[in-house]
Amino acid sequence: MKTEILQPSPAAYEHCAKLIRSGEIVAFPTETVYGLGASAYDEEAVGKIYAAKGRPSDNPLIVHVCDEKQIDEVAFINDFARVVMARFMPGPMTMILPKKDIVPYRVSGGLETVGIRMPDNDVALSFIRFCGVPICAPSANVSGRPSPTTAKHVFDDLAGKIPAILDGGACRVGVESTIIDLTRPVPRLLRAGGMPLETLEAKLGKIEVVDTLNSKVALCPGMKYKHYSPKAEVYLVAAGGDQEERIRRKYNESGNKTAVICLDDMAAKIGGPDVLRAGKDSEEYAHNLFALLRRCDELGYDTVVAQGVTEEGYGRSVVNRLTKASGGKII
Ligand code: AMP
Ligand code: MG
Repeated sequence: MKTEILQPSPAAYEHCAKLIRSGEIVAFPTETVYGLGASAYDEEAVGKIYAAKGRPSDNPLIVHVCDEKQIDEVAFINDFARVVMARFMPGPMTMILPKKDIVPYRVSGGLETVGIRMPDNDVALSFIRFCGVPICAPSANVSGRPSPTTAKHVFDDLAGKIPAILDGGACRVGVESTIIDLTRPVPRLLRAGGMPLETLEAKLGKIEVVDTLNSKVALCPGMKYKHYSPKAEVYLVAAGGDQEERIRRKYNESGNKTAVICLDDMAAKIGGPDVLRAGKDSEEYAHNLFALLRRCDELGYDTVVAQGVTEEGYGRSVVNRLTKASGGKII
């Protein structure tokens, strides 16, 4: 199958909507990462997403909507959801709500709940509007690889497996949505992401945080899988204390195909051609992380030493993604 990369235009949206209506899958940009979408009501098309990604089928998909009417169509809206819809949608966050029957179990991974998100990206919203149905989508990468933040990343992973990629340029946020379970008396954080927890708590009150990385039971399907990995071995150097020393030591003791990913001020201290700058703060780090991991593979590095940051604000999602990418190899 030939994979077309399309620049956004009414004709391109109509073309992609036609593909979706005929049971095909299409990659599209959002403000977080690129998604691989199908009609949320077309079970056969949903099956093609799992096949193209090589994704385990008990890992649920997020349903992307362009307006509140579509939310009402797929889920039972409660008081928390009303606050989220008023304050945070569109935006980089996903809410888990009880699903309505119209959502196939193939989308929800067999659960009675559904993840819903309204992307803050004009190309995504126009695409969904042209399709006329909610679009379920995981990230548009081969399962286990770093999420794609450009159309080229999608092409590198999925060329020949999907008919079209809508090109919206580089994603503004660059890390997946924050996921909040709103089906409980106290909302619970299921995944740190593009919307800082602190910002959500300011409007929703206390949000329960569980240590999803170390918990023995998977709170939701998907959490048990290794994720976001480049081909290189990743080591996460935890924040605090003698972090600079620990980065230097790992960098020096590893072979000459070792890259260091770190914040700008640390990069200035470490120096050298193998140092990739992640930005000036955690927000920029979250934005750049996936692209940098892919870049390390392109440059032929076999080891990546990545600087950890404090787990607050955007730092929470940086540490979460690096912990998973490293498979728990923390220094
Ligand atoms: P991705 O599409 O790769 O960003 O991953 C979607 C993730 O959202 C899944 O791996 C789950 O962790 C989570 N998710 C989606 N739907 C639900 C749901 N109904 N309940 C709990 N978690 C969900
Ligand atoms: Mg993903």
